[in-house]
Amino acid sequence: MKIARVKYDNSIFYGEIIEDTIKRYEGSPFVVWEDTEEVYQLDEVQVLAPVLPSKVIGVAKNYAKHAEEMGLNEYEAPDSPEFFIKPSTSVIGPGENIIYPKIGKHVDHEAELAVVIGKICHGINKDDWQGYVLGFTAGNDLSERVLQGSKGMFTRAKGFDTFCPLGPFIETEIDKNPELSIKAFVNGELRQDGNTRDMIFSIGELIEFISGIMTLLPGDVILTGTPDGVGPVVPGDEVHVKIDTIGDLINPVL
Ligand code: MG
Repeated sequence: MKIARVKYDNSIFYGEIIEDTIKRYEGSPFVVWEDTEEVYQLDEVQVLAPVLPSKVIGVAKNYAKHAEEMGLNEYEAPDSPEFFIKPSTSVIGPGENIIYPKIGKHVDHEAELAVVIGKICHGINKDDWQGYVLGFTAGNDLSERVLQGSKGMFTRAKGFDTFCPLGPFIETEIDKNPELSIKAFVNGELRQDGNTRDMIFSIGELIEFISGIMTLLPGDVILTGTPDGVGPVVPGDEVHVKIDTIGDLINPVL
């Protein structure tokens, strides 16, 4: 099932995407989840960020070729994943503006597979992760490289408002070892062309490690790392993240 969160008139609701329509559900996929007879055309609703996470966890350097392009020659993967937090206030939905920071000097796009947590998750074994995940969506882990510096000052570099576009839909049919094409385009030009099969730490390994440290709540998001090909965006650009089966996450930079 493909799930979206949308706005119509003055109401916000979740629903199931069926071709070019959305079927309204009561509640949310995390609590009450009952379908109704109400169906809307997708072009008459505004598609919002699919979740309002309490936190977004970003995984650093989870694709070897990206680690190398960041200056780490012959990258040797660490024993455990490196990660950071993006604040909930960085999340925006499809079509919303990425606001270029006043103090920004070099902002890169990072196309990433985003895992949406479905159930309270603490101390999960890596083989059991699928029962705790609602599904996958697309994410863009925008990053200000000057503030990031060489010592990995991730939160200040990646925590700006609007630096975490998510969407458009949550795909709930998920493979244990997904092999999904993940692409980024800027103004229609292909910049990133990777596949989730090249992750260093699998989704199960990430969830085991992260949930051993902090409880993940329904709606929380894990950005699983970006493939190589990251590059700068400037005001006036349009960034487009495309992931197999999930869809197109397009945001202008303002
Ligand atoms: Mg990233």
